[in-house]
Amino acid sequence: MYLCNVSTNMDIALPRDFRDRENFPFIIAGPCSAESEGQVLRTARQLADNPVVKVYRAGIWKPRTRPGTFEGVGEKGLLWLEKVKAETGLKTTVEVARTDHVEKALKHGVDILWLGARTVVNPFVVQELAEAMKGVSVQVMVKNPIIPDLKLWIGALERVNAAGIKQLFAIHRGFHYFEKSPFRNAPMWEIPIELKRLVPRLPIIVDPSHICGRRDMLQEISQKAIDLEMDGLMLEVHENPAAALTDAAQQISPDELKAMLDKLVLRQRTGSPDFESRLEVLRTEIDKLDGELLQILAKRLEIIDEIGDYKRKNNITILQMKRWAGIIADRFSIGTNLGLREDFLKKLLNLIHKESIQRQTKIFNKNQPEE
Ligand code: PEP
Ligand code: MN
Repeated sequence: MYLCNVSTNMDIALPRDFRDRENFPFIIAGPCSAESEGQVLRTARQLADNPVVKVYRAGIWKPRTRPGTFEGVGEKGLLWLEKVKAETGLKTTVEVARTDHVEKALKHGVDILWLGARTVVNPFVVQELAEAMKGVSVQVMVKNPIIPDLKLWIGALERVNAAGIKQLFAIHRGFHYFEKSPFRNAPMWEIPIELKRLVPRLPIIVDPSHICGRRDMLQEISQKAIDLEMDGLMLEVHENPAAALTDAAQQISPDELKAMLDKLVLRQRTGSPDFESRLEVLRTEIDKLDGELLQILAKRLEIIDEIGDYKRKNNITILQMKRWAGIIADRFSIGTNLGLREDFLKKLLNLIHKESIQRQTKIFNKNQPEE
């Protein structure tokens, strides 16, 4: 469970689209980067055919990790987005990271500005951007900072809100995580759930593209976002994902987006809000524990490999009955004292043992005994 010890009092007025929505999440889609006028317009036309897509995203200024890579087309891309809006009626959104980005985006009629994960880690920059938005009626989305620090995320939202922006959204795009993980950015659902608890009126949009970093997991994470009652999804969509200049591995085509959205299972929001939020907290805790359990198992097997290698080098047999009998007795007594059933323990220990033997056998077979 993740608890953040802050009290916050933001003045949030739900954007119109949120008040109108039924059960379907608010969908934002478009390429990671605007690359050419043709790419921007063709992608937008295909997306506009799908009535659930409400907003078109495209990065104009791209925060790249290293210089010398494609850093976005700059201001001319805003002219293409003006055309998208005029032709398709889709709203538009771009990332702003400097005050001149804010001015240019507003000048070209961009509907929603978003602050990126790299920007949100820096309160000075967030403050400057917020001041550049003062007195302007624009919607703003604030992505979570790269590091898992909910206070920093809330702080950025508060700075923007204090500048008079009431039509505010949060975007959950996952967090940098040092341990091995299947995700590009670990979702750590407990953090957006805590944000929901602290600021219930704030809509949270999930960005499965940057969480997953690869297209084959987008469906699962989008479904998870819906099951956790997140308010919308932002997905990276490109007319030719494989040829995208940025984030090619995680983008999908407009047709793939349609298929994915069609497959989403929308659930009834049953139970009282209290029941639901407690349930979500417990489930998130389970997800976290399962992740930890798997990491511990993987670590155990790594050590088993090391033991296997050591035994092989010293010409010692794999299965040593005395050691195994000792393990069984010891783990049985720990497990039963913890309230685990004997039958369950027996199956679990056997499964782990079997896998360990198999790993060591593989090591023995791969390497002939040394002289
Ligand atoms: C993006 O949305 O293309 C982007 C750069 O995202 P983030 O700030 O989440 O990395
Ligand atoms: Mn991207």
